[in-house]
Amino acid sequence: MLKEISLGIGLAAVIFLAVSGYDVIPIIFMGLAAGALFFITRSRGMIGKTFSAAPPARATKVEFSDIGGQATAINELKEALDFIKNHDQIIKMGIRPIKGILLTGPPGTGKTLMAKAAAGYTESVFIACSGSEFIELYAGVGAQRVRQLFQTARDSAIKQKKDSAIIFIDEIDILGSKRGQNASHHEYDQTLNQLLVEMDGLKVNDRVRVLVMAATNRVDMLDPALLRPGRFDRQVKVDLADKAGRLEILKLHCRNKPLAADVDLEEIAKQTFGFSGAHLESLANEGAILAMREGCTEISNRHLLEAIDKVMMGEKLDRRPARKELERVAVHEVGHALLSEKVRPGSVSMLTIMPRGQALGYMRQVPENDTYLHTRGYLENQIQVLLAGSIAEEVVLGDRSTGAGNDFEQAVKTAGQIIRSGMSELGVVDPDILPADLRYRVISGIIKTQEQKVKEFLLKMKDAIGQIVHVLLVEEKITGEYFRTITKKFLLVQQGHTDQ
Ligand code: ATP
Repeated sequence: MLKEISLGIGLAAVIFLAVSGYDVIPIIFMGLAAGALFFITRSRGMIGKTFSAAPPARATKVEFSDIGGQATAINELKEALDFIKNHDQIIKMGIRPIKGILLTGPPGTGKTLMAKAAAGYTESVFIACSGSEFIELYAGVGAQRVRQLFQTARDSAIKQKKDSAIIFIDEIDILGSKRGQNASHHEYDQTLNQLLVEMDGLKVNDRVRVLVMAATNRVDMLDPALLRPGRFDRQVKVDLADKAGRLEILKLHCRNKPLAADVDLEEIAKQTFGFSGAHLESLANEGAILAMREGCTEISNRHLLEAIDKVMMGEKLDRRPARKELERVAVHEVGHALLSEKVRPGSVSMLTIMPRGQALGYMRQVPENDTYLHTRGYLENQIQVLLAGSIAEEVVLGDRSTGAGNDFEQAVKTAGQIIRSGMSELGVVDPDILPADLRYRVISGIIKTQEQKVKEFLLKMKDAIGQIVHVLLVEEKITGEYFRTITKKFLLVQQGHTDQ
């Protein structure tokens, strides 16, 4: 409204001057230039950035009970939040308020959910933004946005008659990385400085108590000033959930879905080692979509199993390789599967030659019970499984193909892990200062030894490969159980040989 009135007065003044015989052309030019500048800066969001509080609607409310597999993190967070809830007592005891809580952990583990639940728990206004929203090429804009953010938090709390507000900054590493390191570092530094100033200004007896929560998976990148006591002095680790945690998350995301009686969520949790909460949410959703596409009224276990593949590998492709190529893919996957079964009996969950995502075919393993420590023998077995696809091609078809690039990359990484963990012939070394040629020699030594073992084994299993490839070309996809029934006799003969 104010804008319109001033525009009207301005126009009237210009007309009056023109009528009175003044030269108004320079004034009109200046006005146009100022107007253009205003609109450009607004459209680029330089000054017009607005932060808004999440509406207090019931639908958006997240509670800690909606977050699965994060019991430790939730307890730690609640402990810190209780300081905010009981602030009268805090004042009495002369305790400094907690100003910042940093949630650290991999993407999709529920950090944003935790911050939202924290707002509900403390009955605070919740304002979310991302570190990238503060970064502009123009000096001073980021700092101004930080000021605006805190002001919006206070204003929104007053408007909603609340006495506390939670500001959640996702990807804080973008705005809070170590000072002096960015190309346009002056702007970055100013923005970070402003955040520090705002946090320093937070008092226990402010009318609106503001708590800053931030999330990152690169805590090592943060400026130490952010982490010192009085700023983000609480760190809560929000890690990938273990099997029990995954089961909890699956149950949460399946509670609104019609599950068939054969659904075994425990089995699905077992098969999804390394999945984040976001992956599991997507899995439940994809399972429901698959069931709906098939016209089913309930989601069966097979829908969820297929959804695992979809989440892991991507959408099924219509692309159909030529027969010869299909045969090569089948040989490759059977090679992986045979070695997998050799080093860990019962480990093949499924193998297929149906292209999905980037892969022309793939073999899915049943993950082991969650394990975090690995011996050299275990890592060597992993290398064998990775190399087996390409070696099977060589043994059966006489040559290798380009399809094993990713397998080799992982095999080399695993060999590097053996060196890093002090389990190679070099003993305990600092891998960063290891001469490149020495590192190369040790890695290729490890790989060659495993390659030899795989080749010996697969040469003896040539008949088995032929039979399974034949079945796979007909069926396109076979389950681990079926694979084991076909290979059992061959593997028994092999074990007999090795035992002698
Ligand atoms: P990023 O670091 O990528 O921002 P994040 O850790 O903040 O990720 P969220 O945004 O909280 O992850 O989670 C994304 C979605 O994944 C949630 O909306 C929810 O559906 C699901 N999800 C993630 N973790 C959990 C969990 N622990 N329990 C239940 N659902 C979860």
